[in-house]
Amino acid sequence: MDCIFCKIINGEIPSKKVYENDFVFAFYDIEPHAPIHILIVPKCHTESVLTLNIDEYNYISEMFKAAKLIANDLHLEKNGFRLVLNTGSDGGQTVMHIHMHLLAGKKFLDF
Ligand code: AMP
Ligand code: ZN
Repeated sequence: MDCIFCKIINGEIPSKKVYENDFVFAFYDIEPHAPIHILIVPKCHTESVLTLNIDEYNYISEMFKAAKLIANDLHLEKNGFRLVLNTGSDGGQTVMHIHMHLLAGKKFLDF
């Protein structure tokens, strides 16, 4: 399958890994929008929240579990962080493999 994130997960494309378990893979975004910009990607290929099957819902909780673990590891509890999940063209999604952005290290004043 010609999917950048599947290739990152299986090691075909290098990445700066932050965290991995059986369900998710997390790595630093190549074009960061914040001092800390991490992508949390489930190890199942599905395009977005719109294509997610009921038997894949556990991947969503795993993405949030990973976000919490990473936030704790990077000591982000005090200042906080932003989690973003873009969907479709108006949502600004450019990679068609569902993923969550974890953004931190600056104050996000815009919504
Ligand atoms: P989105 O626009 O929500 O689909 O997010 C896709 C993100 O993937 C963007 O922030 C890109 O900078 C990031 N990205 C694309 N290719 C790579 C890569 N090879 N390694 C790390 N991040 C990537
Ligand atoms: Zn994929």
